[in-house]
This record gives sequence, C-alpha cells and structure tokens, in this order.
Amino acid sequence: MHNIAIDGPAGAGKSTIAKEVAKKLDFIYVDTGAMYRAMALYFLRQGIAAEEEEKIAAACDDVQVSIAYEGGEQQVLLGEENVNDFIRTEEVSMMTSNISKYAAVREKLLHLQRELAATQNVVMDGRDIGTCVLPHADVKIYLTASAAERARRRYKELIDRGGDCDLDQIEKDIIARDEQDMNRKISPLCQAADAVFVDSSNLTIEQVVAEIIGIYGEKTY
Ligand code: C5P
Repeated sequence: MHNIAIDGPAGAGKSTIAKEVAKKLDFIYVDTGAMYRAMALYFLRQGIAAEEEEKIAAACDDVQVSIAYEGGEQQVLLGEENVNDFIRTEEVSMMTSNISKYAAVREKLLHLQRELAATQNVVMDGRDIGTCVLPHADVKIYLTASAAERARRRYKELIDRGGDCDLDQIEKDIIARDEQDMNRKISPLCQAADAVFVDSSNLTIEQVVAEIIGIYGEKTY
C-alpha cells in the first residue's frame, strides 16, 4: 500500500490539498480531524466537560466512530448517524483540541486510522500522521501558512457554509488551538524529521498539489 501523510496547523489548507492529491493519484482521502471532531461532538452531547478525563476515557468504550464515502466525500459516522454537518463549528473545534490530548481518545482513533491505511492507498491528513500514525509513509508533508492567512481561509470556509463569524476571533481561536496541539504530551503537532516543509501562504492550491505529486513520483518510481 502507498501512503501520503500531510500534517500541519489549523487552516493550512491540508484537506483541500489532500483531497486534490488523492483524486489525482486515485487514492482514498482520510480526514483524521473529522474523526476527532466526531468524538468531541459525542462528549458535548453527553454533557461531559473537556476536563473530565476519566469520564471521557470511560465514554471512549461506548463511542463508535467510523467513516464512509458518499460521492467521493468522506462522511463521519457516530454509530449510524452521519454527523458531518455538526462537526465544523468553533465550539466543536475547541472541544476537539481539548479532548485530543487524552491517551484514550488517541488510542481509539489510532487503530482505526492504521487499519484504513493498511488496506488501501491513502492520503491522510491530521497532526500526527507522519510522526505517529504512519511512520513509514512514502511521502510526508508538513504544510503550513501564516496565522493571518490561515484565519482568512477558515473565515471564508465558515461564511461559505452560511455561518456568522468574526475574523479576529477566528485568528485567536486558531492560535490557541495550535498552541495546545503543539504542546500536548502525546503525539503533539510537529514536523517529522523526514517530512518536507511547505509554506502555502503564497502558493496556489495547484502549485502545492503539483509539488506533492512530484515528490511522490520521485520517491516511488
Ligand atoms: O484538522 P482539524 O482542524 O479538523 O482538526 C481538529 C482538531 O483535532 C485539531 O485541532 C487537533 O486537536 C485534533 N487532531 C489531532 N490529531 C489529528 C487530527 C486532528 O489531534 N491527527
């Protein structure tokens, strides 16, 4: 199986780029952030607070997260329910960052993610794919952009979805989330030693996609 790992901070363009690379190579795109978001939504619905680590660890035994594809788009399921439409709010984003630091949460999803990559060619994006989930990926990319640019992109995404939000607040939230993701004890966000660093602030989607496909070509042929 061939695997491409794309890691980086919030709003760096990982999902747009990963989806495009997957389409061009005929790989499956796996959005691991959506899985963490589904777990966070479950805890929010259960009324469990982010600080209640023991309750969260116990609830991990009950929660069932899986993914499916509809028209080529990844759908994330909680039990039988498709929760794709409920996981992109700022409330869920912050809760996700708060609970993704717990070992029980990460272990649960690590198995699912490795299983997916063991049975098909995947482009997987997240925070710890190159460093932890797929240490032997053919290609590892660390994709980033300036905080201001990432906030602008996230703002546009939320507005396009019909949401109402404040650009300054989004930038603050993104910075807080990155801080937390980069400084947690288990699988923090960081560039793998063998990852290629790509700053997309001044690059088009097409340029970044072409660069990744080029790197993949060099590594595998
Ligand atoms: O990529 P996305 O912004 O949807 O990720 C939401 C949150 O999920 C991140 O801020 C991070 O806390 C967590 N996450 C993680 N490990 C991954 C993917 C996401 O901890 N592989």
